[in-house]
Amino acid sequence: MKNPNIVILGAGYGGIMTAVKLQKSLGANDAKITLVNKHDYHYQTTWLHENAAGTLHHDRTRIQIKDVVNTSRVNFVQDTVTEIKPDEKKVILENGDLSYDYLVIALGFEAATFGIPGLEEHAYTINNINSSRLIRQHIEYNFAKYNNEAETKQERLNIVVGGAGFTGIEFVGELANRIPELCKEYDVPRENVRIINVEAAPTALPGFDPALVEYAMNSLEARGVEFKIGAMIKEVTADKLVFEKDEEREEIPTNTVVWAAGVRGNSLVENAGFESNRGRTPVSDELRPKGYDDVFIVGDCALIMNEETGRPYPPTAQIAIQQAEQLAANLKSIIRGEGHVEPFEPNIQGTVASLGDDDAIGVIFDGKKLFGWQATAMKKIIDNRYLLKLGGVPLVLKKGKLNFFNF
Ligand code: FAD
Ligand code: NAD
Repeated sequence: MKNPNIVILGAGYGGIMTAVKLQKSLGANDAKITLVNKHDYHYQTTWLHENAAGTLHHDRTRIQIKDVVNTSRVNFVQDTVTEIKPDEKKVILENGDLSYDYLVIALGFEAATFGIPGLEEHAYTINNINSSRLIRQHIEYNFAKYNNEAETKQERLNIVVGGAGFTGIEFVGELANRIPELCKEYDVPRENVRIINVEAAPTALPGFDPALVEYAMNSLEARGVEFKIGAMIKEVTADKLVFEKDEEREEIPTNTVVWAAGVRGNSLVENAGFESNRGRTPVSDELRPKGYDDVFIVGDCALIMNEETGRPYPPTAQIAIQQAEQLAANLKSIIRGEGHVEPFEPNIQGTVASLGDDDAIGVIFDGKKLFGWQATAMKKIIDNRYLLKLGGVPLVLKKGKLNFFNF
């Protein structure tokens, strides 16, 4: 095939890294590359909880696509994908359509709401820049409103976070640092504000190292976070959250529920007819869905199994980036007819979770545990390493987290 059309959908970790690697490795005569994304910026999903809490401005999190993608080499289309038609080799956008020879799907995740009544209407989610900015503004609005009403409304100051997985824990860590600042700014006594993290499993961070979980909960509780563990969220309304614990139903008055209790792959992938499990499509070790040799799926839309545990790998940026790097190398080989396609094998280098900008927990390499400043520094190294890969030293200097020890 001469000068094939490669179309990449989504400019998150998986999509933008595929585009950046391909623009370096393929010549203009090798292939035509098109990158489609809803916005003209890439955002680091892994920093969105900071934007949502208001501890980091969202402009630090987003990167203009033209700053890292060579738009004379890659055709960037700012548009929204509405449908993927793999049998017709076509993608439908809000403002047109595209044909492809090779398609890379990297459309990321959506909140999984499990049909819980009221969630879609009343809960907030940390999904993208817009939804995170909305959470920050909603919390600030409630603080501003609190002292302007004749009747005290406690629901304005009860912030409930659904799920104590990594997203929930990282978000309450940021809130724990942000709330004292908001209290000062809006003359609200700190003891009037509650941050409540509701988790259905018998522990926070289910499946993670118990000593690190205990450290995280102690750190967060010391800063005023309340945990409801073994508590299953059942319903959300405009002014309360209902959960069930020990077969008892309890209510928390609140108009701020942030749902961080699970993700699924982008529905467009499921709607395209690929086999899928909670929106994630099983892919071969060449990252192809069954039956489609011209389609590749990376990141949160792809489901790959961990043979050791017999369970799917969790959807992470770490895996999305590694998949993109491998896919770009494989596509180059396919397009140049070199005949060598390397199977994808995740290389999990650890997991580090922040508990605010001054504390963290993590497990790295062969199981070494990190707490406190060491874990905080490691998290920043991981973040900066990504920026270095994406846009070199200038991007690290512009967007990186360079204050390693919070002096
Ligand atoms: P995304 O990064 O979500 O990108 C998807 C892209 O597709 C976006 O640019 C979006 O705008 C675009 N898009 C979506 N729909 C359309 C459409 N219809 N048309 C056009 N464009 C569209 N993982 C880690 O490994 N480490 C961490 O520390 C970590 N922290 C996290 C913290 C938070 C708060 C959250 C929510 C997640 C975190 N994760 C972390 C998970 C990680 O962010 C995801 O696994 C990762 O973002 C997946 O990358 P992706 O490329 O599949 O999708
Ligand atoms: P998750 O699925 O990992 O955690 C969701 C949590 O919500 C679980 O603990 C679950 O028991 C709980 N839950 C589900 N339904 C509930 C209900 N009805 N009531 C109360 N609790 C309920 O989701 P996540 O935390 O959003 O993470 C998504 C992905 O992103 C994961 O793969 C995670 O590893 C990754 N991530 C990684 C990091 C990091 O590495 N620092 C940070 C954030 C997210």
